[in-house]
Amino acid sequence: MKHTQCLIVGAGPAGLSAAIYTARAGVDTLALGCNPKVAGDYDIDNYFGFPETVTGRELIERGMAQAKRFGATLRCERVMAVHHGENGNFVVKSDTDEYAADAVIIAAGVARVRPGIANLADYEGKGVSYCVSCDGFFYRGKSVLVLGEGDYAANQALELTTFTPQVAIYTQGKAPVISEGFAARLSQAGIPVIEQTVATLAGEPALAAARLANGTELPVDGIFIAMGQASALDFAKTLGLPLRGAFIQADHDQKTALPGVFAAGDCVGRFLQISVAVGEGAKAGKSAIAYLKQAGAAHTKTS
Ligand SMILES: Cc1cc2nc3c(=O)[nH]c(=O)nc-3n(C[C@H](O)[C@H](O)[C@H](O)COP(=O)(O)OP(=O)(O)OC[C@H]3O[C@@H](n4cnc5c(N)ncnc54)[C@H](O)[C@@H]3O)c2cc1C
Repeated sequence: MKHTQCLIVGAGPAGLSAAIYTARAGVDTLALGCNPKVAGDYDIDNYFGFPETVTGRELIERGMAQAKRFGATLRCERVMAVHHGENGNFVVKSDTDEYAADAVIIAAGVARVRPGIANLADYEGKGVSYCVSCDGFFYRGKSVLVLGEGDYAANQALELTTFTPQVAIYTQGKAPVISEGFAARLSQAGIPVIEQTVATLAGEPALAAARLANGTELPVDGIFIAMGQASALDFAKTLGLPLRGAFIQADHDQKTALPGVFAAGDCVGRFLQISVAVGEGAKAGKSAIAYLKQAGAAHTKTS
């Protein structure tokens, strides 16, 4: 497994700002993330230092160049899970690699994709879950569906096979975008990928069935939501971080409740603006540097 001192999930304004601070301080820094939402032809008029309008694309490209200049490594990889590792570090699994990290900064914005099920909220905690590592155990030998169309759903479904062989992926009508490697593993595990839509849920007092848009009713004990790519909330749930509504709870220094894990930008949910994300990224970077310094010999670089 590759090792990095500081792994940043997200390469938007918050993640890149954090990377500039950590890399500039000599911390071995890896930021994983692709095209942040603002990196298009959007006009940014309110960011400090740009009297003329700057596009989001240019701002992000400049931030990437600056982070690289100080030695940060930036990779367009999608993170699927962040787990507790051994010795107090963290294991970060992306769609292409696996990393051990001494500190993690979550800067993944707000992007959770909803599956479009009208009464989903009624069953959250009563059969509907967002986190296999947290809740998979409760579905030992039971019948579960994973809702999603990509590698994130595939990974969640494969993790569920630790607990039960009765796993199927429903794509909510979307065309699957599952990479070859994951498709092969799904087929080997006997997990079908079905291009149909779960429209409503049923059962009392807990989930007992999923009704498909075509009228079919499937008996089911659990549903795991894994649409699109894993979101900041998914990472928070897996790590057991306290939330504030739909956002990660972080203090003034961007520290979460878990030592070594920091959060910055939109995923913390304060004022959803680039300037705030950049400021919080800087603070998260500073806190990560201090944490790594304090952890010192316990977290020595291994590769
Ligand atoms: C169209 C639009 C216009 C805007 N205009 C303005 C404006 O004019 N001024 C202003 O101040 N703000 C504007 N905003 C808001 C601003 O874009 C956000 O507040 C800011 O981008 C937040 O930065 P962030 O780094 O927290 O999150 P984001 O910019 O959302 O970046 C999140 C990063 O995390 C990555 N990521 C997410 N999940 C994963 C995963 N599983 N694995 C790996 N990477 C992941 C994404 O790919 C991305 O790189 C605009 C937003 C939009 C959508």
